[in-house]
Amino acid sequence: MTDQMAITDLKGIGAKTAALFSKLGIQTIRDLIVYYPRTYLTYPEPVTVRGAGTGVMVAIRGNIASVSGVRYFNRKSFFEVVVADPEGERFTLSIFNQPYLKKAFVSGTFAVFYGRAVRKGKGLMLEQPKKYTPAEYEALQRELHSVYPLTKGLSGNTVSKAVLQALEAFPVADCFDPEFRSEHRLISRQEALRTVHFPDSEEHLREARRRLSFEEFFFFLLIMHRSKALIQNEPNAFPMIEVAHCDRLMERLPFALTAGQKKAWKEIRSDLTGPNCMNRLIQGDVGSGKTIIAFLALLMCAVNGYQGALMAPTEVLAAQHMESLQRMIETYDLPLKPVLLLGSMTAVAKREANQLIASGEANVIIGTHALIQTKVEYSSLGLVITDEQHRFGVRQRQTLAQKGGQPHILVMSATPIPRTLAMVLYGDLKTSVIRELPAERLPIKNCVVGTGYRPSAYAFMEKQIAAGRQVYIICPQVESGEDESLTDVVSYAEELKSTFPATVRIEYLHGRMTPAVKNSIMDRFSKGDIDLLVSTTVIEVGINVPNATVMMVENAERFGLAQLHQLRGRVGRGKEQSYCIFLSAKEDEKTMKRLEILNTTNDGFEIASKDLQLRGPGELFGVRQSGEFAFEIADVFADAQELSEASDAVEALLTADPLLKMESSAAILAEAGAYGKYHLDLQTL
Ligand code: ADP
Ligand code: MG
Repeated sequence: MTDQMAITDLKGIGAKTAALFSKLGIQTIRDLIVYYPRTYLTYPEPVTVRGAGTGVMVAIRGNIASVSGVRYFNRKSFFEVVVADPEGERFTLSIFNQPYLKKAFVSGTFAVFYGRAVRKGKGLMLEQPKKYTPAEYEALQRELHSVYPLTKGLSGNTVSKAVLQALEAFPVADCFDPEFRSEHRLISRQEALRTVHFPDSEEHLREARRRLSFEEFFFFLLIMHRSKALIQNEPNAFPMIEVAHCDRLMERLPFALTAGQKKAWKEIRSDLTGPNCMNRLIQGDVGSGKTIIAFLALLMCAVNGYQGALMAPTEVLAAQHMESLQRMIETYDLPLKPVLLLGSMTAVAKREANQLIASGEANVIIGTHALIQTKVEYSSLGLVITDEQHRFGVRQRQTLAQKGGQPHILVMSATPIPRTLAMVLYGDLKTSVIRELPAERLPIKNCVVGTGYRPSAYAFMEKQIAAGRQVYIICPQVESGEDESLTDVVSYAEELKSTFPATVRIEYLHGRMTPAVKNSIMDRFSKGDIDLLVSTTVIEVGINVPNATVMMVENAERFGLAQLHQLRGRVGRGKEQSYCIFLSAKEDEKTMKRLEILNTTNDGFEIASKDLQLRGPGELFGVRQSGEFAFEIADVFADAQELSEASDAVEALLTADPLLKMESSAAILAEAGAYGKYHLDLQTL
């Protein structure tokens, strides 16, 4: 079985290379063959000077008009070539550090030039372009080049070679029989795997992705159906009664709950007091006020004599929840004794927290996923809430059950996905939807602009900061080996310091900082001790700093719309007017049209649906939505069609063979085991 064989079983992979692979999460042969390319490089259709976007790789056909001499600056060589495109518009090629290339550029030659387009003044320039004959370029255009996420020291070539060897030496069996495959128009698994790594045409790649996405959804849904049957009938091991504390708290809050919040709360109460264990999802857009619902549930649980845990995806968010809960306890004199348990705490602090949890003295426990993964001993854990977090796996449920009876589970999510998809993906949970935002919020003002707008944006931020507000600037995560023109937060923050007056306090935040440092920066930002925070998407989820009123997103074109929408949810949380500026380095029509959706609505569900319509099914290289659905290859947006077909196929299978006892189901059952092992830790059920 390839899921048990180590990659060192391949020729040429020794301990050193294996260690590098292991950094990418690849240990077994199976890990390797499902290490799918992040994207594929394709050569674009040639454009004219007028049609060329900037900041992107473009191809332009043209006649070489003139070639400059080679000049030297700081010991670096440099020459320029002027080319006229078929419309007679001129553009320049700039070539540095390769003086020997000069003889390849001969006046009068017609060729295709491929390089990064930048606009200097009025003119268009291609940096470090490659030159091809039209025939060469056409041939290149037909090829797709796999691009893998890499780590330092490991090249794409090494990954490719290892994958090829693995696929040839260990052909995979197919879990779907030929009849099933033809019914659902699926190519074989071996062919799909081979094609997804080494595509020979776009059409074939589409089929390969279709097969693999279908399979991934199929097993996800199959495992979900099976566990749904188990969890729906779980008895209520922690039965509760209604308590007056919750009503009293609601009466004293400075705001009235929205209708959606009230409904969600009512449904939770009825679950907790009912005959079965709660398994509920609260789906509510960013800023819809999910936290207060979580606090009410924790209060009800505590007054009933049980412990409740609240898990956040990051330590920063957990610490923030702790702080808001503590403030509430003081203000409203609630009978709660919360403890915070974080990986970054000192051993002594952790021991103290653990003692309070084990003795039952603490009745609310706040932390990250470590709360169920590590050996925390609870005295009576009756409720587990996950905030902005992926779902529970079978394994997590088991872990919880082993800690003393199956607790009630409440999952809170802001991931905006269309309702039809939600019903499939969350089929095992009962769902409460909070549709509306609290009434007194001013809608965020948005704009989608090119990078030329940046100076005006800075000026605007400076004014807001002078008025006492705070600002976020978000940059995409830069992976090693990626395009250097992408902005990385550290150098960006440095640059800003010279752009803004010295009184503006600027800090940065990114995923590779230690949790303690991240916590302290977020803490200072919440307290207003930082004016401008440059960050990657680590601040994506949950953070609530109502005084922050401006967010600017660099390279917005690199994010999925749902993710951008969640990001912008970090502003517009207070009484002041908030603004969100999406800067796009690509200004072609398609990109701008997609981003414009954010301009037309602030409703996450609507954005998700429009994004889906616009992208349409079968899009190959869509921007992947990050978030809770950590599928390996499938994308709930782009592959919505496969999702719904897989859902029907699972229904059909389970109708025919509910317990998968038939011989014809044996291969599927076996594969479900491997999939389960493979996926549970990542996410799924
Ligand atoms: P999210 O759903 O994104 O987690 P939060 O729970 O963080 O949103 O709520 C955002 C802000 O809205 C908080 O400051 C919270 O106190 C406030 N809030 C929650 N419910 C209401 C309401 N019904 N009316 C007014 N403000 C509310
Ligand atoms: Mg939240």
